Amino acid sequence: MHLFHYQNDRLHCEDTDLGSLAAKHGTPLYVYSKGTITSHYQRLDAALDPLDHLVCYAVKANSNLAILSTIAKLGGGFDIVSAGELYRVIKAGGDPAKCTFAGVGKTRAEIEFALEKGIYCFNAESEAELRYINQVAGELGKKAPVAVRVNPNVDAHTHAKITTGKSENKFGIDFDQVLDVYARAAKECPHLEIRGVQMHIGSQLTSVTPFREAVEKVIPMVKDIQRLYGIQFFSIGGGIGINYKQSLDSGASTWWESNSETHPLTVQAYAEAVVPLLQPLGLRILCEPGRFMVGNAGVLLTSVLYEKRGSAKTFKIVDAGMNDLIRPTLYEGWHQIVPVNKPANGQTELADVVGPICESGDFLAQNRDIAPVQAGDVLAVMSAGAYGFTMASNYNTRPLPAEILVEGSKVSVVRERQTLDDVLKGEHIA
Ligand SMILES: *Cc1c(COP(=O)(O)O)cnc(C)c1O
Repeated sequence: MHLFHYQNDRLHCEDTDLGSLAAKHGTPLYVYSKGTITSHYQRLDAALDPLDHLVCYAVKANSNLAILSTIAKLGGGFDIVSAGELYRVIKAGGDPAKCTFAGVGKTRAEIEFALEKGIYCFNAESEAELRYINQVAGELGKKAPVAVRVNPNVDAHTHAKITTGKSENKFGIDFDQVLDVYARAAKECPHLEIRGVQMHIGSQLTSVTPFREAVEKVIPMVKDIQRLYGIQFFSIGGGIGINYKQSLDSGASTWWESNSETHPLTVQAYAEAVVPLLQPLGLRILCEPGRFMVGNAGVLLTSVLYEKRGSAKTFKIVDAGMNDLIRPTLYEGWHQIVPVNKPANGQTELADVVGPICESGDFLAQNRDIAPVQAGDVLAVMSAGAYGFTMASNYNTRPLPAEILVEGSKVSVVRERQTLDDVLKGEHIA
């Protein structure tokens, strides 16, 4: 399936012309392809088919209700990191019994809410948290299903800000301490039901090696825990990387079919690496993809406001800033940036694409060869579906952009653009 492509030199999402969307709904504008999300879910689900498995979409990547609803209808579960995300999942028609709750800092209110709603499992990240969940569950007269997040101390070889599986990261419990923590929980925490083991080593992994290494390292421990406590599941986390550079020519292959030199991590390669290791366990296997599911399914449309030709650089000043998409400045994230209307001659020029925010870190691309766009032209920042809108803020009192879900030629506004009154809501002069 081919979901962002040029048709007669106009960029389309499925059967919808993106230039027309920008004209109608304004910019900055997030646009998502429902078909891409569906396809990604189904491909991963099929690749894990030999296992008793559940795909738990990591809500933090993109938590729009329409996207959660799409995944819920496909049968997916959800990995949540706050009560707010659970609230969204429920509003979108998702099943709490298919939700796992991650994160190092769960509050009492969050634990209570998740217990009331009957989530599948709390994935605890410290012994103190386990004991606290036990206490809260006891007070509510409930038993809390728990797993421990194991920090396997393997290097995911990804950006420092998105690596999570090393001992120096705040996530999970040190590999060497895990069995003791399970033993103490089993002995001293009567309000816990030990239900599984979890790990998540990082995000945007582009090779299967760290996944294989981590699974191989943790499996013997999972077997011990299985034998001692009779668990139901092992979650191998998320982290499947995506290709941020893709061909947009009509008829070009999509990334998962791309050759292994440009992108070694296909969903097939991932499954081939981990499925044979996991199958003999006979446990339910959970997988928690975020970026993989939605990253390539979204674009951020932005209009060029001005061009400034300085002595050192040319700047294309656009109406989307780091408050709309923070990945370039926070993670050194690289996004392909293309014009929605392709210029005839295919020329490019070297420029920085910068936003209107009063920060030097406010850029979408630096020293980039891009089409020679001028004021009024619309650019598409590709692969902005994950960690885009969910990390957007009102910095500089800028209203959050609108979000659109496209299905073929059907266009739905799935979040309205904020008004200034929305931004100021709840604020008072003392
Ligand atoms: C963020 C996160 C994920 C999703 O990571 P991706 O790289 O987006 O797939 C999965 N599990 C946990 C526990 C996370 O914190």
